[in-house]
Amino acid sequence: MSTEQGKTVYIETFGCQMNASDTEVVLARLADDGYSQVDSVDAASLVLYNTCSVRDGAEAKVRGRLDSLKPIKRERKDLRIGVMGCMAQRAKEELIQAHPHVDLVVGTDQFVHMPALLKRLEQEQQVVATDFGFFESENWSARRREGVNAWIPVMRGCNYNCTYCIVPKTRGREKSRDPNLIESEVRDAVANGHVQVTLLGQTVDAYGKTLGDGTSLAKLLYRLNEIDGLERLRFVTSHPKDITDELLIAIRDCDRVAKHLHVPAQCGSSRVLRLMGRRYTREGYLDFVERARRLCPGVEILTDIIVGFPTETDEDFAETMSLMRDVQFDGSYVFMYSPRPGTGAWNLPDDVPEDIKRVRCNEALGLQLSQQEERYGRLHGQVLSVLIEGVSKSNDQRLQGRSQGNLNVVMDRAGHDDCIGRCVPVRINGSTNLTLYGEHADQEPTLVGTGGLDFLRLDI
Ligand code: SF4
Repeated sequence: MSTEQGKTVYIETFGCQMNASDTEVVLARLADDGYSQVDSVDAASLVLYNTCSVRDGAEAKVRGRLDSLKPIKRERKDLRIGVMGCMAQRAKEELIQAHPHVDLVVGTDQFVHMPALLKRLEQEQQVVATDFGFFESENWSARRREGVNAWIPVMRGCNYNCTYCIVPKTRGREKSRDPNLIESEVRDAVANGHVQVTLLGQTVDAYGKTLGDGTSLAKLLYRLNEIDGLERLRFVTSHPKDITDELLIAIRDCDRVAKHLHVPAQCGSSRVLRLMGRRYTREGYLDFVERARRLCPGVEILTDIIVGFPTETDEDFAETMSLMRDVQFDGSYVFMYSPRPGTGAWNLPDDVPEDIKRVRCNEALGLQLSQQEERYGRLHGQVLSVLIEGVSKSNDQRLQGRSQGNLNVVMDRAGHDDCIGRCVPVRINGSTNLTLYGEHADQEPTLVGTGGLDFLRLDI
């Protein structure tokens, strides 16, 4: 693709993988319009921030970036500055008032029109485009970073209204994409060397519902599982209520699908879960875990946990810790509650002091790490299927890859460069609480997924 003289874009992306994927799409659209990507504001004719609203800290960073661009814009009047993503959608008026030097405010569904919006700036002082209007039937070609993985959004938006979450406000109602387009994008990605594809959706396990023709994530997995050259297929993030038996069986039966689920529990107290609007109880979540491990043996279950939600008591937090002990999650992302304007919980008192939130966060993380260390120790001697991503960044004598459950695995490199981009058997012979170490093995993996190892007994 040839680029036009002087058309250069610097883009910075905050937040989740959906944002990273949107950045890839917008870069492809801009490349079609003659832009080349540069890695500094100084070299750019267009500066874009693709923003996140999940925590105030992420928004504060963008406000800081915009403040620092003010004197630059004074010097370089032709510099175009744009804000896209969730913050643009949530806080457009506030952004324009506080940062009048911003030229473009582009919402979460409108960024695909970036070249046309930039054109409008030739006639208009400032362009604000934040209508919802998702293009389910449009091909979303993307300018992907090099590497084994390609992120492909299969749906957008969310029909749940968890009271701590800004996503339904910033990304609108749930909308699923046409499976034919998804399949063709996956085939293109594989042809371009992305041997792993991760399907993205805020509630990805609800995929297909809005199409109204019986399409489901399970059916999509069976279909994509047929694609030659695809080494591994993943999907994130799931809601426990949408994980059907049909989906669990598809994960079990499709050999290219990672035996891996990321299903946020958020909390172990049914009282707090009700306040969070999660639509399940502690028992409901444990039922899901039992069903998942029964129908899909070895499936790895990762979770998100929020500590310090309004009114959370020591007893509520103890229930979260006991849920973590009961389930023995294969990984946990722990967050401190951050109130967001426009959410259902905004009007609740943020009454758990910051230092208590921090203590609970550290306790939950500490528990996860100690469980992980123990579990990694039990994997010594086992042979896992590892998708080798490349040379380890910290030691060029080693290769780095990921197990089915996304565990970080490092193996000796000598004579094995041909393993890069392939799933290979690795015998585990060492570990820390964050990394597994091993060597290439000349045998089939002994474990398909490593989840629930020794934990199949659940006291529920
Ligand atoms: S399911 Fe809940 S937490 Fe997840 S995106 Fe929807 S509203 Fe947010």
